[in-house]
Amino acid sequence: MIEGRVIKVSGPLVVAEGMGEADMFDVVRVGDQHLIGEIIEMRNGLASIQVYEETAGLKTGSKVYSTGAPLSVELGPGLIETMYDGIQRPLEGMMKAAGANITRGIDVPALDREKKWDFVPTVKVGDEVEAGDIIGTVKETEVVTQKIMVPYRVAGTVKEIKAGSFTVTETVCVVTMADGTDKELTLMQKWPVRFGRPYKTKMVPDTPLVTGQRVIDTMFPIAKGGVAAVPGPFGSGKTVVQHQLAKWADAQIVVYIGCGERGNEMTDVLMEFPELVDPHTGESLMKRTVLIANTSDMPVAAREASIYTGITIAEYFRDMGYSVALMADSTSRWAEALREMSGRLEEMPGEEGYPAYLGSRLAQFYERAGKVISLGKEGREGALSAIGAVSPPGGDTSEPVSQATLRIVKVFWCLDSTLAYARHFPAINWLNSYSLYVDRLEKWFAENVNPEFPELRAKAMRLLQEEAELNEIVQLVGVDGLSVTDRLKLEACKMIREDYLHQNAFHEIDTYSSMEKQYDLMKLIMNFYEEGLQALTNGAEFNKLSGLAVREDIGRFKYTEEKDVAAEFARIADVIRESISALSAGEAEEE
Ligand code: ADP
Repeated sequence: MIEGRVIKVSGPLVVAEGMGEADMFDVVRVGDQHLIGEIIEMRNGLASIQVYEETAGLKTGSKVYSTGAPLSVELGPGLIETMYDGIQRPLEGMMKAAGANITRGIDVPALDREKKWDFVPTVKVGDEVEAGDIIGTVKETEVVTQKIMVPYRVAGTVKEIKAGSFTVTETVCVVTMADGTDKELTLMQKWPVRFGRPYKTKMVPDTPLVTGQRVIDTMFPIAKGGVAAVPGPFGSGKTVVQHQLAKWADAQIVVYIGCGERGNEMTDVLMEFPELVDPHTGESLMKRTVLIANTSDMPVAAREASIYTGITIAEYFRDMGYSVALMADSTSRWAEALREMSGRLEEMPGEEGYPAYLGSRLAQFYERAGKVISLGKEGREGALSAIGAVSPPGGDTSEPVSQATLRIVKVFWCLDSTLAYARHFPAINWLNSYSLYVDRLEKWFAENVNPEFPELRAKAMRLLQEEAELNEIVQLVGVDGLSVTDRLKLEACKMIREDYLHQNAFHEIDTYSSMEKQYDLMKLIMNFYEEGLQALTNGAEFNKLSGLAVREDIGRFKYTEEKDVAAEFARIADVIRESISALSAGEAEEE
């Protein structure tokens, strides 16, 4: 075993000598308390170690052992519903082992070693299997079935396969490899967190991750396997957006990483998440969620590791062929941890003290998202969508973390404190936000929602941009200075904003809009606008048009129950047509 000695302690950074034989990224145990650390730099036999636990009291001369293995996570039944810290230690398990004040250096396995799981094999003796092939399943919770896969670099003939009840370390299958050796497979496998899990091919994301949130799905959609960022100043609705996504996004598994947002907020998430109900199953949302939390009393270094721990777990479920949504809250706190370690390593600082490799580290993280075909003879299609919250100080997105993120992600939902202040929720600014998936998803929307959907979306977007210009003119000349057609345009935009984009997360029905309902509502607004324009050119009076009672029907349409949507749409569309044509007819009679 490699054994070295501490020569320097600087907060979470420890430098040790005599470690020349150890490898970069090896996990080490430091001092009498066996604190957990990871080698993050090797220079002339000196190892710089990032320690994931409080280093107070650690002295120079203390011993350091290398475990000879990189920081890894355990993957298998027991992940779901568990809350982990940044290096996959189960919070509850640690509390049980050590009391409320978690002592340092304690070893609690990530996956429960005692619990038995019912394993149902899907292969038989004599079958040829390769890495990624499924050998059986375990029903982990009411809503999640884990597929037990042949680990990487294992291939051969099934020599033995069992059925029944097993712990994660008991052998359930024996595979005879090509070289004649036998490999025992368990329900659990390990994976080093800093390396992406392999897959066969990566595909272009071309289906939307439907979230039921109108401003997202219609205006700024994210693809399954896509990457998005949500920058949000305090109070702008970042938490509500993330909860809505966790609840409603079309994903079978949710991985939520809390990278140490202000202490109490993280506890909020820990308390709130188990109370959220999964609308699809009526069960607690936790039944399909893995939570990774860094509470405020954990050292910064653990935050750095947490996003890798989280994304590795997400990749594991992706490999089973699931749609996985990963949320990281917030990547700003993660970047601060990176900055702190970089400072202690005395690296050359880049912008605002962040290391020069901030951008490439962020890119490496987001690159692990995607839609892929898994390993295995019959590769499965799985998707990992990553959504990172960014909390720029003062809401100013010109700072380095926001800027580096902007260069990587394809969707940017820009939360705006002015909108939040005006109680326009979700406070996603429609002028600053964007989605680069819009073009690629058009086909899906046209085929699965309505052929006209992409065109309607584009029209609405254009109107909103024109509204911004018109508003400037209004400030100069007043609204009466505008032509009636421009005034109608402003009315249409008001409807888009207030009736469409505004969505109440706490309203029983409005909290989720099906794609059909989203299309119908946009269509009603556009019908009103376009038929209204026609009426104006036929001489209808603007005030009568803008005062039509049918506008209230349109405004209330979002509260229609899904089962009544088609009928209500048809009814309102008729009323729009009749009441507007009555206006034109009325004008004609008066003449
Ligand atoms: P942040 O996490 O950015 O500090 P929150 O997500 O806690 O902000 O949102 C602040 C408040 O804004 C919430 O308590 C809620 O009252 C309101 N809010 C945010 N989003 C919505 C929404 N979609 N519908 C209704 N209210 C919302």
